[in-house]
Amino acid sequence: MSGLYEEALEVMPGGVNSPVRSMAAIGRDPIFIERGEGAEIVDVDGNRYVDWVCSWGPLIAGHAHPDVVAAVQSAAARGTSYGAPTSRETDLAKQIVERMPSVQMVRLVNSGTEATMSALRVARAATGRDRIVKFAGHYHGHVDGLLAAAGSGLATAGIPASPGVTQAQAADTAIATWNDRASVEGVVDESVAALICEPLPANMGLVPADDGFLDFLREATERVGALLVLDEVISGFRCQLERPAADLVVMGKVIGGGLPLAAYGGREDLMRLVAPAGDVYQAGTLSGNPLATAAGLATLRLLDDDAYARLRATSERLATGLAALDERVSVVWRQGLLTPFFRGTAPRNYDQARACEIEAYAAFARGLLERGVYPPASQFEAWFPSLAHTDEHVEQAIEAAKAALSEL
Ligand code: PLP
Repeated sequence: MSGLYEEALEVMPGGVNSPVRSMAAIGRDPIFIERGEGAEIVDVDGNRYVDWVCSWGPLIAGHAHPDVVAAVQSAAARGTSYGAPTSRETDLAKQIVERMPSVQMVRLVNSGTEATMSALRVARAATGRDRIVKFAGHYHGHVDGLLAAAGSGLATAGIPASPGVTQAQAADTAIATWNDRASVEGVVDESVAALICEPLPANMGLVPADDGFLDFLREATERVGALLVLDEVISGFRCQLERPAADLVVMGKVIGGGLPLAAYGGREDLMRLVAPAGDVYQAGTLSGNPLATAAGLATLRLLDDDAYARLRATSERLATGLAALDERVSVVWRQGLLTPFFRGTAPRNYDQARACEIEAYAAFARGLLERGVYPPASQFEAWFPSLAHTDEHVEQAIEAAKAALSEL
């Protein structure tokens, strides 16, 4: 065990500030990072890796993109926080409204967790109802009522639901099965304030909706007067999805360009319920932080059609390269995201995702790390190609994967 990890274990639970970073799921100690450069990271021992995690999504432009660094430096020189409005908050809000369907007004917050928690408060206030429907394997941050069958780090650690959530909060959450219409019809009724889902679920690995399923969710919620909340924390500003109209949308990651920033938005009549326009209270000392809005705006400026085409090409090249290596692995990919599942066929729901060969993925991930390739330390997370990844990075990953697979 490294000295740094030992020291960290003394003062932080599990030695980390977010569970998946511990790498326990792939049976090894965490890697302490010294710096990032484009698509690569360097650890404290000087080992260099091609990074397919990219901070779990925010770094669509790669590490330390010069435009993002310059924007943050220039903002920092003028003060790091005022607790008063800045024009950059409006600029970013306008960009979000322009780029994200269904978002007419938006509130900036600090994390995806805060954004989903706040969006559900608005949904409950607007409908006068308490119950929320979510899908097994979808992760919406560590909001108390959304920790059941939550995928992501809970799936990685084998935690079905967290202790510390009150019975009342758990009772207000109903769980449906992804891609299963009957299970949705079984729980969506007049008591439901909102159904929340990831339109492109990426927290049980990447498990897209079947054709027509998202439209079905729109109709099912509309029929009973419940709101549809799309959690686009991962998919937003990364994937160009066909989305049904949503009532509320939750966003994060890319819009903060690697700094803490997230947002919730949606229909104007709903967002006008939020204080001080309305009486649904939600606030934040550092919300709309000047450094974070600068990083977010610099990142969004990079995201034009050409950039998305390149991101798509990189994702496809890596996915098809990995898929060709081994028939035990099914690779699912979309623009900017992919998951190699250790399973003969791609999963369509959480139970199927959990039936993957978790130990095989763990050995594969360890093998990649030994060869200078840094994958998610969990079968239940997506890989995040960025604009900084080149054909050479893709080739290096495929060569390393071939060697790692041959050892399984
Ligand atoms: N929603 C989704 C879809 C996510 O993937 C995440 C985090 O990975 C969150 C919400 C929570 O975001 P945060 O980690 O910023 O609280």
